[in-house]
Amino acid sequence: MSTNTQDRIAIVNAQIVTVDKSASVIENGSLVIGGDGSIRAISSTSIANNASETIDANGAIVMPGLINAHTHLGMTLFRGLGDDMSLEDFLARLMPAEVRVLNYEAVHSGTELAALESLLGGITTSLDMYYLPDAALAVAKSSGMRLQTGPNFLESDGPEPLKFADRLKWATQWLEAPRDTIGTTGWVAPHSTYLLSEEQLRVLADLAARFEARIHVHASETVGEMQLVAKRHGGRTPIQVLDDTKLLRRAVLAHGVHLSDHDIELIAQNSATVVHCPASNFKLASGVARILDLQRAGVNVALGTDGPASGNDIDLWIAIRLAGYMQKTFAKNPAVLPAVELVRMATINGARALQLDHLIGSLEVGKRADIIILDADSPSLTPNFDPHTTIATCVTRADVRHVIVDGNVVVRDRKCLTIDHKTAVNKVKLLGKQVLASVNNN
Ligand SMILES: [Zn+2]
Repeated sequence: MSTNTQDRIAIVNAQIVTVDKSASVIENGSLVIGGDGSIRAISSTSIANNASETIDANGAIVMPGLINAHTHLGMTLFRGLGDDMSLEDFLARLMPAEVRVLNYEAVHSGTELAALESLLGGITTSLDMYYLPDAALAVAKSSGMRLQTGPNFLESDGPEPLKFADRLKWATQWLEAPRDTIGTTGWVAPHSTYLLSEEQLRVLADLAARFEARIHVHASETVGEMQLVAKRHGGRTPIQVLDDTKLLRRAVLAHGVHLSDHDIELIAQNSATVVHCPASNFKLASGVARILDLQRAGVNVALGTDGPASGNDIDLWIAIRLAGYMQKTFAKNPAVLPAVELVRMATINGARALQLDHLIGSLEVGKRADIIILDADSPSLTPNFDPHTTIATCVTRADVRHVIVDGNVVVRDRKCLTIDHKTAVNKVKLLGKQVLASVNNN
């Protein structure tokens, strides 16, 4: 360290769960965040530093921020609007309400509430898919949450409102515009293969190729979707359609519940990621994703909450727990999907999905400092014989004490410093009345 560089934060007395390649845990560890917001040093002994702030973890677990690899943040506005019904019925209720209620301000408010919920719960990065992505990016900038997003495409005009051809023009301009968010990857988000024609999907593949953008798409979520896609696309599966239309390469596939052996081969060959969203899958009775088979085939599997209208909360700890329990139960084997693997799915695998694993997803020297510090005195985390097990089976959002993103403290002692809690909640309470009116007047 050059002596005239001011360190930002020193975290001491920590049980550091690094999520590095060997899943090392450093007891009584220290971690120093340098002046540039990256991790300058990690050690099991004290580190010489000149940090302007020292955080004593009191022996608590210190780990990488969680990565929510599939969500629709702005959908907090519709949380609980269509429950106890099928995905198809839920979408039929939701989509007209979205068109009536959403505008830039509404998406901004919905996303801000979601950012508050995410940060308080230890989620530091989200891959978002929603209308008016500029509103979400504005929230990311003001709140300090990392967000990856891009233009999303459905057949309907959406609340923007734009026909497909106009949406394409807008998306082109959107992808051309320079942005100062972390990572230079652009995203194109075709909603799904059931809400777009083959021709439209091919056009989107061309658009993504032109900008070297990544694809974020729903795929193989429900039996109903499989039937719709087979009918619309000549008996093919969503994965086959994505492969045929050149959209599968390195794609981020939300759900991937109903996959054939051939689908899994195609996903592996194309280095695509499957984002498992167990809370949504369980709630909508979508089915049990073949996570173990995907992993056996070498597929990167990350975790997501899905949107708060289907999720319903933005809680990745629950996703971790449900993912494990679901696979253990259906494999009739409690040894599958061990805690270390579940922790990876919620952190480094999400970073890999976003191609940001060189920057985030684990606590290693040189990476950006996206860090959660848990509560050392939480009854439900005591005792803590194996921190990976504690994380996979015990931690809840209430145990998240401090959250740091890019070297900046955004949550301190369970209070978000970047979003006004009361204002964010009240705005969405008011918008909720509009949502209800829009459905009742239908
Ligand atoms: Zn989704």
